[in-house]
Amino acid sequence: MEPISSLFNQLQTPRKVVITTHQKPDADAMGSMLGLKLFLESMGHQVTAVSPTNWAGWVNWMPGAREVIDFEHNKQASAEVIKEADWLFCLDFNIFYRTKQLAPILAEASCVKILIDHHQQPDTQSFNYGISDTSKSSTCEMIYDLIVESGNLDRIDANIASCLFAGVVGDTGSFRFNSATAPVHRMVAVLKDKGLDHTKVYEGLYDNYLENRLRFMGHVLTNRMEVFYEFNAALIAIPKSDLLKYQIRTGDTDGLVNLPHSIQGIRLVAICIDRDEERKWSFRSKGDFDCNQFARQHFEGGGHFNAAGGRSSQSLSETVETFKKILPSYQEELNKPQP
Ligand code: 5GP
Ligand code: MN
Repeated sequence: MEPISSLFNQLQTPRKVVITTHQKPDADAMGSMLGLKLFLESMGHQVTAVSPTNWAGWVNWMPGAREVIDFEHNKQASAEVIKEADWLFCLDFNIFYRTKQLAPILAEASCVKILIDHHQQPDTQSFNYGISDTSKSSTCEMIYDLIVESGNLDRIDANIASCLFAGVVGDTGSFRFNSATAPVHRMVAVLKDKGLDHTKVYEGLYDNYLENRLRFMGHVLTNRMEVFYEFNAALIAIPKSDLLKYQIRTGDTDGLVNLPHSIQGIRLVAICIDRDEERKWSFRSKGDFDCNQFARQHFEGGGHFNAAGGRSSQSLSETVETFKKILPSYQEELNKPQP
């Protein structure tokens, strides 16, 4: 994989570009895709954004979100546009399986493939150009860097700013994680100068649910959460019947995994949701517990040090039992005094 900067002098020549991201795109995935799309369009490129699956309603306010092609609902149009592309940007994921059924099409595409991502253990050999930097707060920060480092800061307008800001807010837990560095805050200051309305972005991301989602959260916290004080850990397991009863939609369960962390002393939170095709795990830790390693080793997943995801083909009760069996082997690590 050659460095992304090798592409900068080619940005002037208009090309057919496809941008894609991971399944069920979140604020960083959608924000980086649309921020890059708007930027490349301002340079005269012909750009199509393709999502591997549908996405949460709370990213639909982003400029351009409604023109994104949902691969699962439009396989032929997606395959055709990828076939025609000169460049394929892959954002906020680093291995093709994160795009589910779109993966073989991406793997077989003959165009130039470009990776921009901040997760651990990238599959760099699948890409021609790119940047993989786990120290970055978000892929949106990396798109900002690309725009600035290629000498195009003046192309950032209020629309691009709101897309990029959304991803930074999402991935830094609203600037609380240590990934929210001084350069991230400087970037936000520049985005404000470009006309960013940050209140509108927060409301779009966090005040954009239906009543049933809030009632669902109450139900889950009361009835589906277990706390294991001896391991400083908490677990939430959500059966399919809850999702149906509360009419839960894509994106409605986002953020739930963070809530048990408000309990004093909790270091690790795990949540497992019974989806149709698999049991989907999310892991969040505080301090020096490595979620990426934990998800990789036990649940076919990965991600970041303090935030990772995984999956299981077992039933919900089986995979929950697996988790509970593993937990004691981490007792020492989860009880280690923090610096
Ligand atoms: P979430 O729990 O919000 O779905 O994901 C947390 C982080 O882990 C995100 O950065 C996400 O991209 C990554 N992640 C989630 N699920 C998986 C997975 O199955 N495999 C890998 N490699 N990463 C994942
Ligand atoms: Mn991200």
